[in-house]
Amino acid sequence: MLKVYNTLSRKKEDFVPVKPENAKIYSCGPTVYSFQHIGNMRAAIFQDTIRRSLKFLGFKTTSVQNITDVGHLVSDEDEGEDKMLKAAKKENKDPFQIAKFYTDVYLQDLKQLNVILPTFMPKATEEIPEQIEIIEDLLKKEIAYTTTDGVYFDVAKFPEYGKLSGQSLEDKQQGASDRVEENTEKHNPQDFALWKFTTGKNSNHIMKWDAPFGEGFPGWHIECSAMSAKYLGSEFDIHTGGIEHIPVHHENEIAQNTCSGKVTNVKYWLHNAHLQVNGEKMSKSAGTAYLLSDLIEKNYDPIAFRELVLRTHYRKSLNFTFESLETGTNNVNKINDFYNKLDDLKTTQKDTNEILNSATNQLENFTNSIEDDFNTPKAFASLYDFMNDFNKLTQFSQEEINTAKQFMEKLDEILGLLKPKTKTQIPQQIQDLANQRKDAKENKDWAKADELRNKIQELGFTIKDDKTAKEGYLLSKK
Ligand SMILES: [Zn+2]
Repeated sequence: MLKVYNTLSRKKEDFVPVKPENAKIYSCGPTVYSFQHIGNMRAAIFQDTIRRSLKFLGFKTTSVQNITDVGHLVSDEDEGEDKMLKAAKKENKDPFQIAKFYTDVYLQDLKQLNVILPTFMPKATEEIPEQIEIIEDLLKKEIAYTTTDGVYFDVAKFPEYGKLSGQSLEDKQQGASDRVEENTEKHNPQDFALWKFTTGKNSNHIMKWDAPFGEGFPGWHIECSAMSAKYLGSEFDIHTGGIEHIPVHHENEIAQNTCSGKVTNVKYWLHNAHLQVNGEKMSKSAGTAYLLSDLIEKNYDPIAFRELVLRTHYRKSLNFTFESLETGTNNVNKINDFYNKLDDLKTTQKDTNEILNSATNQLENFTNSIEDDFNTPKAFASLYDFMNDFNKLTQFSQEEINTAKQFMEKLDEILGLLKPKTKTQIPQQIQDLANQRKDAKENKDWAKADELRNKIQELGFTIKDDKTAKEGYLLSKK
């Protein structure tokens, strides 16, 4: 039985989908006015792990991740500059081009991280009528009100406001009192914008739409209510986001969902913790807000970063260091070398399958770890225990090799660390050198054999003698 930690109840709960035949998941996606740093990539890998795990456990899934391409305001505040517009000015492009560019980069990053995309990835700018409809409804119910610069949600009209973060409105008000309030027409400091008019400092806003309540553009929170309702219906199972979404963005979503009646039930709220760099908060000014492309530039494989993320439980703060990324590289190589080696092993006739028990037991352990709130770090132990058991064998039947391959491929349905046949990426030139080295060794020409080994290494590959291999050696990329 899958158990998930629900932020709403602050405990692990049995996962029972609204519709047993189809688990539905909504994930808050990126705001695409700039590059996404590796902290955002952690969130993407977390979402991917949930989707992959549910499928692994036999659920059919429908999943959504939105792309925030509306040039809304700084973080989740209602005041401040429009980052999309700022980026557009800086790069001399229109906001739609900016959004498209950064969305494409994001999708490319996900591909390199072996993230399987959700069923739907709607863009906020393409779902404006759905957002307007909810705002109109809230205005009609007098839960929303109009001021000179926009339409606001009156949090005092929703008594449950704060139930996700466990903060009462009073607590929140205390925290908010230090902030400068630019809009004095707001009923409560926590009231948030559903829609901003293209007036005053927003009069130059390029992304704008007509609405019955006035021309403008949507606030940040409304798109998630509109899109989750449209693609998943009024009840769905899992809503994910980063822990920074809990106190404002997700509280606001719940308020909009409930008061509009568009989404009446989100069963489980799951949040991933932050990623830190060298034990400290990631910082642009300190140069530690790394992008995936920064890691690639330093010759790291994105899959090594994926491994690093999976090695920490999603609810724990993840400490990114280059040392840990090195470990990721080694682990990914170890796993891929093991998997690729299976095809190169010499087989013998055997009546027994000596590793079948290990495969069965470790698959069970692995599944138990995943069912315990997606405990990927614990799940890795099952993978390595199996590999150790297999490595103790000195002779292999084809059946045992098949068992090992199936085991590795099964676990990889969640882990996603096996690279598409690294073996085929070994160029003919390297294979020829390896063959020549084999001949040299057979002729006892050790000097020549050493020379060829060095040459193979210089070209970026490793050759290891292995008696259990068909050819007597194993080749891998360094
Ligand atoms: Zn959201």
